[in-house]
Amino acid sequence: MVRLLAQAKRKYEWVWNKDQRLREYREKEKAIYRAKYNDSAFRTKERARQQRYRHTNPDKVAEWMDKRRKLVAQVNDGTVGDNYAELMNEYRVCPYCSVKLTSSNKSLDHMEPISKGGIHSSSNIIVCCSTCNGKKHNKDFTTWIDSLPAFNRNVSTRAWEAKKNAAVGQMGLRLNF
Ligand SMILES: [Zn+2]
Repeated sequence: MVRLLAQAKRKYEWVWNKDQRLREYREKEKAIYRAKYNDSAFRTKERARQQRYRHTNPDKVAEWMDKRRKLVAQVNDGTVGDNYAELMNEYRVCPYCSVKLTSSNKSLDHMEPISKGGIHSSSNIIVCCSTCNGKKHNKDFTTWIDSLPAFNRNVSTRAWEAKKNAAVGQMGLRLNF
Protein backbone atom coordinates (compact mmCIF):
# COMPACT_ATOMS: atom_id res chain seq x y z
CA MET A 1 0.00 0.00 0.00
CA VAL A 2 2.76 2.41 0.95
CA ARG A 3 4.61 1.43 -2.17
CA LEU A 4 1.56 2.03 -4.29
CA LEU A 5 1.09 5.43 -2.74
CA ALA A 6 4.72 6.32 -3.36
CA GLN A 7 4.30 5.16 -6.93
CA ALA A 8 1.19 7.29 -7.41
CA LYS A 9 2.99 10.27 -5.90
CA ARG A 10 5.94 9.82 -8.24
CA LYS A 11 3.64 9.59 -11.23
CA TYR A 12 1.73 12.66 -10.11
CA GLU A 13 4.95 14.65 -9.68
CA TRP A 14 6.25 13.48 -13.02
CA VAL A 15 3.14 14.80 -14.76
CA TRP A 16 3.11 17.95 -12.63
CA ASN A 17 6.72 18.79 -13.52
CA LYS A 18 6.30 18.25 -17.25
CA ASP A 19 6.55 21.93 -18.19
CA GLN A 20 9.59 22.41 -16.01
CA ARG A 21 11.32 19.42 -17.63
CA LEU A 22 10.44 20.69 -21.08
CA ARG A 23 11.95 24.08 -20.26
CA GLU A 24 15.11 22.49 -18.91
CA TYR A 25 15.35 20.27 -21.99
CA ARG A 26 15.01 23.28 -24.32
CA GLU A 27 17.61 25.26 -22.38
CA LYS A 28 20.03 22.33 -22.60
CA GLU A 29 19.47 22.00 -26.34
CA LYS A 30 20.00 25.73 -26.79
CA ALA A 31 23.27 25.59 -24.82
CA ILE A 32 24.50 22.71 -27.01
CA TYR A 33 23.58 24.66 -30.15
CA ARG A 34 25.30 27.81 -28.87
CA ALA A 35 28.48 25.85 -28.11
CA LYS A 36 28.45 24.38 -31.62
CA TYR A 37 27.80 27.81 -33.11
CA ASN A 38 31.16 29.07 -31.85
CA ASP A 39 32.77 26.94 -34.55
CA SER A 40 32.99 28.93 -37.79
CA ALA A 41 32.76 25.78 -39.96
CA PHE A 42 29.49 24.89 -38.25
CA ARG A 43 28.25 28.47 -38.72
CA THR A 44 28.94 28.34 -42.46
CA LYS A 45 27.16 24.99 -42.78
CA GLU A 46 24.26 26.24 -40.68
CA ARG A 47 23.87 29.38 -42.79
CA ALA A 48 23.78 27.24 -45.94
CA ARG A 49 21.17 24.96 -44.34
CA GLN A 50 18.99 27.94 -43.43
CA GLN A 51 19.35 29.37 -46.93
CA ARG A 52 18.36 25.99 -48.39
CA TYR A 53 15.34 25.89 -46.10
CA ARG A 54 14.22 29.36 -47.16
CA HIS A 55 14.71 28.42 -50.79
CA THR A 56 12.70 25.19 -50.60
CA ASN A 57 9.96 26.61 -48.35
CA PRO A 58 9.00 29.95 -49.91
CA ASP A 59 5.42 29.60 -48.63
CA LYS A 60 6.64 29.27 -45.03
CA VAL A 61 8.88 32.32 -45.50
CA ALA A 62 6.03 34.34 -47.04
CA GLU A 63 3.77 33.34 -44.14
CA TRP A 64 6.41 34.42 -41.64
CA MET A 65 6.98 37.75 -43.42
CA ASP A 66 3.24 38.40 -43.53
CA LYS A 67 2.90 37.69 -39.82
CA ARG A 68 5.82 39.98 -39.09
CA ARG A 69 4.40 42.75 -41.29
CA LYS A 70 1.05 42.59 -39.49
CA LEU A 71 2.78 42.63 -36.10
CA VAL A 72 4.83 45.71 -37.05
CA ALA A 73 1.77 47.47 -38.52
CA GLN A 74 -0.01 47.08 -35.19
CA VAL A 75 2.67 49.01 -33.30
CA ASN A 76 3.71 51.46 -36.01
CA ASP A 77 3.47 55.10 -34.94
CA GLY A 78 4.54 56.39 -38.38
CA THR A 79 7.77 58.00 -37.23
CA VAL A 80 10.06 55.40 -38.84
CA GLY A 81 8.79 56.07 -42.36
CA ASP A 82 9.03 59.83 -41.80
CA ASN A 83 12.61 59.65 -40.51
CA TYR A 84 13.87 56.65 -42.48
CA ALA A 85 16.84 58.31 -44.21
CA GLU A 86 17.87 60.06 -41.03
CA LEU A 87 17.64 56.84 -39.01
CA MET A 88 19.67 54.93 -41.59
CA ASN A 89 22.43 57.56 -41.41
CA GLU A 90 22.38 58.26 -37.70
CA TYR A 91 25.67 56.45 -37.09
CA ARG A 92 28.69 55.82 -39.24
CA VAL A 93 29.73 52.82 -37.17
CA CYS A 94 27.67 50.09 -35.53
CA PRO A 95 26.86 51.20 -31.96
CA TYR A 96 26.92 47.56 -30.84
CA CYS A 97 30.32 46.51 -32.26
CA SER A 98 31.96 49.60 -33.85
CA VAL A 99 32.26 48.02 -37.30
CA LYS A 100 32.02 50.57 -40.14
CA LEU A 101 28.48 50.82 -41.53
CA THR A 102 28.09 50.58 -45.29
CA SER A 103 25.04 50.43 -47.54
CA SER A 104 25.39 46.64 -47.67
CA ASN A 105 25.67 45.85 -43.94
CA LYS A 106 23.30 48.47 -42.50
CA SER A 107 20.09 47.41 -40.83
CA LEU A 108 17.51 48.91 -38.51
CA ASP A 109 17.13 47.27 -35.12
CA HIS A 110 14.18 47.51 -32.76
CA MET A 111 16.09 48.08 -29.52
CA GLU A 112 13.19 46.65 -27.55
CA PRO A 113 12.04 43.75 -29.78
CA ILE A 114 8.51 43.92 -31.22
CA SER A 115 7.95 40.41 -29.83
CA LYS A 116 8.73 41.73 -26.34
CA GLY A 117 6.38 44.70 -26.52
CA GLY A 118 8.65 47.16 -28.37
CA ILE A 119 7.07 49.57 -30.85
CA HIS A 120 7.88 50.45 -34.46
CA SER A 121 8.93 54.01 -33.74
CA SER A 122 12.01 56.18 -34.28
CA SER A 123 12.29 56.23 -30.46
CA ASN A 124 12.87 52.46 -30.51
CA ILE A 125 14.95 52.12 -33.70
CA ILE A 126 18.69 52.26 -34.10
CA VAL A 127 20.89 51.64 -37.11
CA CYS A 128 23.38 48.79 -36.63
CA CYS A 129 25.23 46.17 -38.64
CA SER A 130 23.25 43.16 -39.83
CA THR A 131 25.56 40.77 -37.96
CA CYS A 132 24.70 42.39 -34.61
CA ASN A 133 21.04 42.58 -35.58
CA GLY A 134 21.06 38.83 -36.27
CA LYS A 135 22.89 38.05 -33.04
CA LYS A 136 20.58 40.26 -31.01
CA HIS A 137 17.51 38.58 -32.51
CA ASN A 138 14.72 38.89 -29.92
CA LYS A 139 16.87 39.46 -26.84
CA ASP A 140 15.65 42.36 -24.75
CA PHE A 141 17.86 45.41 -24.81
CA THR A 142 19.42 45.08 -21.35
CA THR A 143 20.27 41.38 -21.84
CA TRP A 144 21.83 42.19 -25.21
CA ILE A 145 23.98 45.13 -24.13
CA ASP A 146 25.24 43.13 -21.14
CA SER A 147 27.10 40.97 -23.67
CA LEU A 148 28.82 43.95 -25.35
CA PRO A 149 32.25 45.45 -24.62
CA ALA A 150 32.02 48.33 -22.10
CA PHE A 151 32.51 51.04 -24.75
CA ASN A 152 29.66 49.80 -26.94
CA ARG A 153 27.50 49.19 -23.89
CA ASN A 154 27.92 52.84 -22.88
CA VAL A 155 27.25 54.19 -26.37
CA SER A 156 24.16 52.00 -26.73
CA THR A 157 22.83 52.98 -23.32
CA ARG A 158 23.25 56.67 -24.14
CA ALA A 159 21.52 56.22 -27.49
CA TRP A 160 18.67 54.35 -25.78
CA GLU A 161 18.21 57.10 -23.19
CA ALA A 162 18.39 59.90 -25.77
CA LYS A 163 15.79 58.18 -27.94
CA LYS A 164 13.44 57.34 -25.12
CA ASN A 165 13.65 60.89 -23.75
CA ALA A 166 12.97 62.50 -27.12
CA ALA A 167 9.35 63.34 -27.87
CA VAL A 168 7.59 60.82 -30.08
CA GLY A 169 8.28 61.63 -33.71
CA GLN A 170 11.38 63.59 -32.87
CA MET A 171 14.84 62.22 -33.45
CA GLY A 172 17.03 61.57 -30.44
CA LEU A 173 20.28 63.34 -29.78
CA ARG A 174 22.89 62.79 -32.44
CA LEU A 175 25.72 60.91 -30.78
CA ASN A 176 28.72 60.93 -33.04
CA PHE A 177 31.55 58.70 -31.98
ZN1 LIG B 1 27.58 45.45 -35.13
